[in-house]
Amino acid sequence: MSRIDRRKLSDDYEVVDVLGRGGFSIVRKGIRKSSIREKNQNQVAIKTLRRLGGYTPPGPLQTYNGHKKRLPSWNQISISDALLTNEIVVMRRIVEKVSPHTNVINLYDVYEEGDGVHLVLELCSGGELFDRIIAQERYSEFEASVVVQQIASGLAALHQANIVHRDLKPENCLFLDSSARSPLKIMDFGLSSVEDHTDPIIALFGSIDYVSPEALSRHEVSAASDMWSLGVILYILLSGCPPFTASTNREKQQRILAGDFNFEDPTWKTISFSAKDLISRLLSVEPYKRPTASDLLKHPWVIGDSAKEELMDSEVVTKLQRFNARRKLRAAAIASVLSSKVALRTKKLKSLLGSNDLSTEEIENLRLHFKRICANGENATLSEFEE
Ligand code: ATP
Repeated sequence: MSRIDRRKLSDDYEVVDVLGRGGFSIVRKGIRKSSIREKNQNQVAIKTLRRLGGYTPPGPLQTYNGHKKRLPSWNQISISDALLTNEIVVMRRIVEKVSPHTNVINLYDVYEEGDGVHLVLELCSGGELFDRIIAQERYSEFEASVVVQQIASGLAALHQANIVHRDLKPENCLFLDSSARSPLKIMDFGLSSVEDHTDPIIALFGSIDYVSPEALSRHEVSAASDMWSLGVILYILLSGCPPFTASTNREKQQRILAGDFNFEDPTWKTISFSAKDLISRLLSVEPYKRPTASDLLKHPWVIGDSAKEELMDSEVVTKLQRFNARRKLRAAAIASVLSSKVALRTKKLKSLLGSNDLSTEEIENLRLHFKRICANGENATLSEFEE
């Protein structure tokens, strides 16, 4: 991997389709120019993060909050140096200590270009974890155990290198390709931490569904916090619903803090004791009681010995489809807010980004905007604004 230099991405890569957008980034497919005439073209994913500050040219005229405004377009989205540096520090550590690993995204190169950074990553064209699962009519515990095994294997390598992911969720687990045996890759290290190297950054946007009690109560976040998130993913895989549900976000937080979940839904009746026991251990409020990723790799359910091979209730897939669709809608709404310049200057982001120029009116507008898009009360950011 290269160090900071004067090379330009466009010298080496042809950038093609957009693959996805994150809160502060755009990810596009790229082809290595030197491979364009070759049969097996070298395809990669290029994640572009733009640095905060500098001149932001006005975007097209749009209506925002009842007023015509020029909002920035995707390539004008900026990111604080803190967030940007963090992702690079973590990715470099992965290259040094973890790569190549079947279940962790690989970084090939980094291009720093004045106002931002391009990360050249392994291309994952197989889609998100839940999208693939719900494409099937039904699936078995055994199939879910293969997923858990792959995530645990990636986490074990990351934790061994003292990297805590801190934002483990199904949308950060992508299949490498569309083949049935494709490996699952853990990605998006924007909020991750390397012990003694990076400042912990709090996830400001998105759902709290996967957040551990210690992260919610601002206590020390460790490798065990990733294990909690894996417990939540497993619970959803086997029931189609998250373990901590409530009508308000505040209530949901309380349930997470108390570890208040159950297996009462009828879909749990046919799930093996071994799987339920594993979930209960992963969702222990005390982090030290949770199994480690290495423990999981020896667990009878995870290695497939006690995972049932019969197909689960079709209701699980139906519920998972609903849950996934709601999640996508919310993510799209948040992305649209984040892509406005105002969102980057919110009071919550101010301390992180060092920006100080948001008017009370702008904060109020943003609060109302969030209220609208988070009408179901499931967004952490909204509750923080309400406090
Ligand atoms: P978030 O706001 O969720 O933290 P982010 O800014 O960190 O997002 P990513 O989650 O890394 O951005 O990427 C945004 C989207 O781009 C992903 O949801 C995914 O669809 C796509 N993407 C990211 N990396 C890859 C990759 N290596 N291969 C294919 N698609 C990718």
